[in-house]
Amino acid sequence: MFTSKERDATGLVLSVLHKWDQGNKSARASMLQEFLTRNAGKTSMELELEFAQAGSLFLTRITAWMRLTLFSYMFGTYLELQLRALEVFLSAAGRYLMEFLEMGGVLTLLEVLGHSQITEKAKTLALHLLRIIANTGRKYKEIICESYGMVYVTACAEETQHTASVLLEALAHGNPRYQQQVYKGLVALLSCNCPKTQQLVLQTVRTVQVIVKTAHLSIVEPLLNLLRSLHLEVQYEAIELIKELQQTEVRPALLRALVTLLKPAREGVCKHKILQGATSLPPLKTSYQVFRMLAEEKQDISEELIHLGVIHHLLCAMGNLEHADTQRQASLALEHFVRSYPVVEEHVRTAMGPALFDCFMHNAELLYMSTDQVQADLLLANKVHILRAESARPSSYHFFNEPAEVSLFRSRLLRWYDQSKRDLPWRTVAMTETDANIRTYAVWVSEVMLQQTQVATVIDYYNKWMKASHLSCRWPTVQELAAASVEVIRSETESGKGPGLPPALTQQCLLFFWQDVNEMWAGLGYYSRGRRLHQGAQKVVVVMSELAGEMPRTTQGLLKWLPGVGRYTAGAVGSIALGLVTGAVDGNVTRVLCRLRAIGADCTSSLVTDLLWEICNLIVDPERPGQFNQALMELGALVCRPKSPLCARCPVQTHCHAYRKVILIQETDAKSPLSNPDSVQSPCVPDIEDCSGDSSCKMCLSEGWARDLGVQNYPRKPVRKAPRVERMVTCVLRCRMTEDEDEPQYLLIQRPSTGLLAGMWELPSILLEEDIPVKKHRALLSAEVQRIVGTSPDEDSFQYLGEVVHIFSHIHQTYVVYSASVGGSTERDREPQSRWVSASALQEAAVSTGVKKIMKLYYESTSKLQDT
Ligand code: SF4
Ligand code: ZN
Repeated sequence: MFTSKERDATGLVLSVLHKWDQGNKSARASMLQEFLTRNAGKTSMELELEFAQAGSLFLTRITAWMRLTLFSYMFGTYLELQLRALEVFLSAAGRYLMEFLEMGGVLTLLEVLGHSQITEKAKTLALHLLRIIANTGRKYKEIICESYGMVYVTACAEETQHTASVLLEALAHGNPRYQQQVYKGLVALLSCNCPKTQQLVLQTVRTVQVIVKTAHLSIVEPLLNLLRSLHLEVQYEAIELIKELQQTEVRPALLRALVTLLKPAREGVCKHKILQGATSLPPLKTSYQVFRMLAEEKQDISEELIHLGVIHHLLCAMGNLEHADTQRQASLALEHFVRSYPVVEEHVRTAMGPALFDCFMHNAELLYMSTDQVQADLLLANKVHILRAESARPSSYHFFNEPAEVSLFRSRLLRWYDQSKRDLPWRTVAMTETDANIRTYAVWVSEVMLQQTQVATVIDYYNKWMKASHLSCRWPTVQELAAASVEVIRSETESGKGPGLPPALTQQCLLFFWQDVNEMWAGLGYYSRGRRLHQGAQKVVVVMSELAGEMPRTTQGLLKWLPGVGRYTAGAVGSIALGLVTGAVDGNVTRVLCRLRAIGADCTSSLVTDLLWEICNLIVDPERPGQFNQALMELGALVCRPKSPLCARCPVQTHCHAYRKVILIQETDAKSPLSNPDSVQSPCVPDIEDCSGDSSCKMCLSEGWARDLGVQNYPRKPVRKAPRVERMVTCVLRCRMTEDEDEPQYLLIQRPSTGLLAGMWELPSILLEEDIPVKKHRALLSAEVQRIVGTSPDEDSFQYLGEVVHIFSHIHQTYVVYSASVGGSTERDREPQSRWVSASALQEAAVSTGVKKIMKLYYESTSKLQDT
């Protein structure tokens, strides 16, 4: 029995359908417009109510009309309308999606992609619908792939490639049968020209690479082409992918192609332009950086590159006087090889001659500035060809050779640790938590927070992150962290802001979540770490079906699945949370081991880091690996400190070569009345207990023993490069939204989601080129404010407040600060990534210390003004 209400609804639907069937195209178009206005964002249940259980009849009609449109080539504007109406049904899911597929919906959408006359906007909509279908499950992904979806998707034009790449990522996950096909489709998209799409595709390939596990040779050429990109984000992603591909079968081809990139177009073209009429493109600056990175990371890659002839090419590039930057990069790359391989040193010394070689070793980075034509010719004419290179094996003095010594060392260190260790929240979890998943997650969070931040600072943040309280919901498990953004979406949905998960809303919610993370993280610095934790959690719980919500249980798994996890973090988490017998070499361990084994070579070189890992993996206690690693780190933090080490209280003092050396020098001094205790450099360090290697030992101190440093002679680091100097002009822009509102609002802009201070909020700022005169500052700011809020005060009303200096680890930043005011009518014009906040909200927002310093200057300046 129907109620009268249901009878009315049915009557209404029948009249709508009748109107549709009788109507012409424009009548149908206006019906679709009305449909969109009334129903966008509804769930399938709500649509059923609206259509008195007969929504399918309307869906069928829209689909049929769209097919007719395609068949008759009458695309016009109706097609976009039809696709948007279909989106309402498909987003609502339920049975509509199935019915659409049964009507051949996938083929129809692919047909939209295949027509050259169809607008890119319509194609983007079609790709978007395919993504909704793909996200519904593996079966639907297979339907798209079986319908030759990949052919259509990868053939998309420039404007739609971004959306195509997002669809391909959706198709790659949980689609084992066709994942190779999807991977190849992504590789094809690498050749696109849009930097944003290139960046996205590279990121997607990196994710998909992990799933498919193998790589295809076709990736080499487009990938290396992307190294030529002028966009740093694209270069960065390309380099990261190249690094990851070193674990796959394309590695030899990739290395060969990289070496080929260094070759001049034809022999001898690099001669000075006075001697050479024609010029050629210089080898890529980025490729040298890649070389250095790869070679410094892995010894076997270094050796392979040497075998491929890289030394010859680097010497040639150093002689290329036309490209100073190339010379500089090549010189730095060559320095690594020379310092790591005696055979390379020998060849390079012979090729350069002693004088040039000495200059090179003295300052490889700046050699290009003094290279003259004769030296350039010498470098270009080099015939260096090295068949085989083996790194110098250190003498046993720099190693732990005796099993008895290792065993004594372990027991002394662990006994001290048991008595002296600090109680830290993550240590408690590692010791008491029985669930391995929670344990691994907890230790992972602590390790990520501890990267670049001191223990005392981390404790509070760690507790805030891990503990759920009645005030705030934090993320005590990997599931809760992964679900965090979904939680936000759900609460949005329940509060009636919108049903389902439309992508725009999803994106927005993710932004809220990241904001939340950033706000919690503010003060810890290096903000991208919070995001990486979230991405890692999503991989574990949502993306990687093979992990099924379980944190990886091996160091390889941790390295492979968790973004931002390197060798140290994998070793630390693996040993502490999972009891894996592996070392973990961080800064503290490096210092302790370098002192214990008197390792005086550059501790950042691959030669030394390889040795430190070898030592650490050897001495780690197999019974208590996690506690042993923590003990070594704790020793570095509390006793073997960078400055003023407490050797007298050191539990492993009898194993320490550095300490023994200090004692021997003191004893020698005491015996020899002629020795001069004031002499800082002591060339006559006793060698009774010294390295058994001859003077060629690459692990010993190369610059002699500094008497005043004692054990602090170790470790040795390369001279730090001066930070990059940058100037930015920035503006505190205030506004009163309404006339009667007392509290002014300040404009904040969100930084991009990658790079320095990713996702943080900042004041409107512009990087100043060197030659921009001061009088142009106001014009620049005015244009920027106009761009962001759609209006701008007069240039003259920007008031100069002063300069603020903020030093990042690698940038010496000076902000030239101005302030200005705008009226309240700017709201609707503003850029999406901006917001107005009150002074108090600004203090709470995810802003960097630099912004806080600027605001301090602003408040001081305005209060001075009020005083006068
Ligand atoms: Fe460090 Fe001194 Fe102990 Fe050696 S003896 S490990 S230098 S604290
Ligand atoms: Zn030595």
